[in-house]
Amino acid sequence: MNAENSHPTTTDAGVPVASDEHSLSVGPDGPLLLQDHYLIEQMAQFNRERIPERQPHAKGGGAFGEFEVTQDVSQWTRAGLFQPGRKTEVLARFSTVAGERGSPDTWRDPRGFALKFYTDEGNFDLVGNNTPVFFIRDPMKFQHFIRSQKRRAANNLRDHDMQWDFWTLSPESAHQVTWLMGDRGIPRTWRHMNGYSSHTYSWINADGEMFWVKYHFKTDQGIECFTQDEADQMASIDTDYHQRDLFEHIEAEEFPSWTLQVQVMPFEDAKTYRYNPFDLTKVWPHSDYPLHEVGRLTLNRNVTDYHAQMEQAAFQPNNLVAGTGLSPDKMLLARGFSYADAHRARLGVNYQQIPVNEPKCPVFSYSKDGAMRVKPVSDPVYAPNSYGGPVADPERTDDGGRWYADGQMVRTAYTLREDDDDWSQAGTLVREVLDDDARGRLVDNIVGHLLNGVSEPILARAFDYWRNVDKDLGDRIESGVRAKQDETDPKAADQGNPARSSAQQKA
Ligand code: NDP
Repeated sequence: MNAENSHPTTTDAGVPVASDEHSLSVGPDGPLLLQDHYLIEQMAQFNRERIPERQPHAKGGGAFGEFEVTQDVSQWTRAGLFQPGRKTEVLARFSTVAGERGSPDTWRDPRGFALKFYTDEGNFDLVGNNTPVFFIRDPMKFQHFIRSQKRRAANNLRDHDMQWDFWTLSPESAHQVTWLMGDRGIPRTWRHMNGYSSHTYSWINADGEMFWVKYHFKTDQGIECFTQDEADQMASIDTDYHQRDLFEHIEAEEFPSWTLQVQVMPFEDAKTYRYNPFDLTKVWPHSDYPLHEVGRLTLNRNVTDYHAQMEQAAFQPNNLVAGTGLSPDKMLLARGFSYADAHRARLGVNYQQIPVNEPKCPVFSYSKDGAMRVKPVSDPVYAPNSYGGPVADPERTDDGGRWYADGQMVRTAYTLREDDDDWSQAGTLVREVLDDDARGRLVDNIVGHLLNGVSEPILARAFDYWRNVDKDLGDRIESGVRAKQDETDPKAADQGNPARSSAQQKA
């Protein structure tokens, strides 16, 4: 036995094996034997190592840590995990959206920012992004949106034509696409980006009063981003750069942290606010709803088995504890179903018994059986019963939030408010938040993206899309694209391009 490793190798059943190197054969040069069950176990296990990757958010990594409440927000929520001084163990996972498991960390894409708080009242999950808004506002479009960002059927290639086709036919995407094409579309590391709930959630205090909230995790490391060139270079040097960066900093005990701040909207305000506060393509301007500090999230412990603790981690927005709840955001309500369903499909119906997903508090559910159930259940297996089984206690839950609604069943968009439109907040970002240099990089990034395989009439539609966000921005993008087209193929640019001709006529 190797002196450095005093453990004998065993089968998965714990039985010591005879060799790590040689299969069982008839003589040194003879055929192999079917009774070499250890060889067969090794091959069979290997063939089953991969599980389906997430669709989307397949490429990611993260760590364990702690959330500590530093301020008193009990006037807005009774949730135990947000009470002053409370510390709660947390699992975080960061990810790109469209890329597969082996894809580069530095592709331009929103980043997932998923958190699981192991509270003593059950798991509380926030499944956010590093952006405060999203591309769409109705879940009917989500599947189509993700397919447009992934691969074509025929050639299995990602395709900017398909991406811009979807975006320009979905004007509600403008705010998020502006954000994505700007500097923050490629964070330098996961440590240097913010996390946002993006969705509006509800909080309920001890008196039963309800508030609407948006969560903002602001990086304490400061925002840092890669330019497109830096990101392209890094993608070829180190596809796993973000994962490596996080792992190495935690190993070196340079623990990254984020300060949680919330925007709080009184329940009644939502009815008359100038924007629909549940529209996922909009922010609440800070001047209307300022940020209030809650506490600090610190990541301080790496996973020791990526597959068991990260690939099998399952976050779901419907994991909500008393004092917290959902809101009438249609995307959030649909995610409440779809995340848990995705986990059942990917990990099996008993995925919440996988240790990384297991609550740290006792579980008294009536769920039973199913593939890979490892925790024994006991009688009685039904409710109501006369044998002392668990009994639901409405006092210990806010049941996903409380609000009221009435109306006819319809399939229609949200009712528009005074300031609701698809372009204004994107325009504010371009004109009032970005400086000249950042606007220049935004133009360059969009021009580069459009030149990468986007055809007419989608190209012409893209120029109008950007002119709707900001007239000057759209004009600069069109001239940038046309100039580059002229450089590569002057004739094609003149002849085959109706949009270009009309733009020239206008000029
Ligand atoms: P503020 O001036 O109060 O906020 C602007 C915010 O923009 C900053 O606080 C910062 O968010 C964020 N920001 C700064 N640089 C960039 C960048 N390069 N790319 C993307 N975001 C950046 O104005 P408002 O609250 O009225 O918002 C104006 C616009 O700012 C919005 O239309 C939206 O596009 C964007 N924004 C607003 C946020 C909000 O929740 N109100 C959050 C993020 C962006 P942070 O402090 O979170 O880093």
